[in-house]
Amino acid sequence: MREISGRTKTVALFGYPVEHTKSPHMQNAAFAETGIDGCYIAFSVSPGELSGAVQAIRSLGMLGVNLTIPHKEAVLPLLDEIDPEAVFIGAVNTIVNRNGRLCGYNTDGRGFMRSLAEAGIAVAGKRVFMLGAGGAARAVGYYLVQEAASLIIANRTKDKAEQLAADLDRLRPVVSVIASSDPGYAALCGEVDIVINTTSLGLKEGDALPIDSAFFNPRHTVCDLIYHRTPMLQAASSQGARIIDGSGMLLWQGALAFELWTGQPAPVDIMRKALGD
Ligand code: NAP
Repeated sequence: MREISGRTKTVALFGYPVEHTKSPHMQNAAFAETGIDGCYIAFSVSPGELSGAVQAIRSLGMLGVNLTIPHKEAVLPLLDEIDPEAVFIGAVNTIVNRNGRLCGYNTDGRGFMRSLAEAGIAVAGKRVFMLGAGGAARAVGYYLVQEAASLIIANRTKDKAEQLAADLDRLRPVVSVIASSDPGYAALCGEVDIVINTTSLGLKEGDALPIDSAFFNPRHTVCDLIYHRTPMLQAASSQGARIIDGSGMLLWQGALAFELWTGQPAPVDIMRKALGD
């Protein structure tokens, strides 16, 4: 156990709730491995307390924080600077305190892409089918659209899919929307190369699958942003598809945040081991 001293710098997670987070385990392992005199704590911050908690980053001289539900969007007006990627996504998951100036970043999308790259999966030239159009879809979509041959979005609320598609299409015009009721839906599912679930379906036991499992085939790479092997991933695997869960994205978004706070390379293997413990 490292000793906390008068010089120890603090990083925190602000969320509501935070009890089940694995981030302190992962980030404290990184501080221990690198010898940086820092520690990471999770704080339960209710929405009404967010503004005061953000001000405390300055007044307590913290290195920065991570933000999770429900603060990622609400924090934007409280910051001094926001990275263009986070502006597009409309959400911040990492704040860096630069001498009292609070700078917001979003490492989710880049974290997802790093997890794919690490697994040897290239998006360039691929047809990508993304299920969902919430905050995580916007974060990963920002990167997918820059490389994919095409990006097709399906979402329960079609208006949200259309809004996200219009925003992403302005970055690169390869984006379209499909409804599950569309007669071409099944054929499209069979033709794409990569399927990505960004919906929260699969988080809870008994959730419906976000896509009919009959559509999967051995050509598919199927990804879920949820950290565990969801029923969708199990179904895809049993049909011969390659599967990737969200644990790599969780690891890499944290590693990228560590690098933003400390300016040093993250000890990724140590952080991965801590997540697995
Ligand atoms: P969000 O903004 O609330 O979006 C939720 C999405 O799920 C929307 O597309 C929503 O559709 C859809 N959805 C929810 N319930 C549904 C249902 N019953 N049937 C069909 N669709 C449904 O949430 P988010 O922040 O994007 O997070 C989405 C998932 O990504 C969560 O499971 C989260 O844990 C995961 N995530 C993982 C990481 C990681 O590091 N691995 C990082 C961020 C997020 P509507 O638009 O129709 O409501």
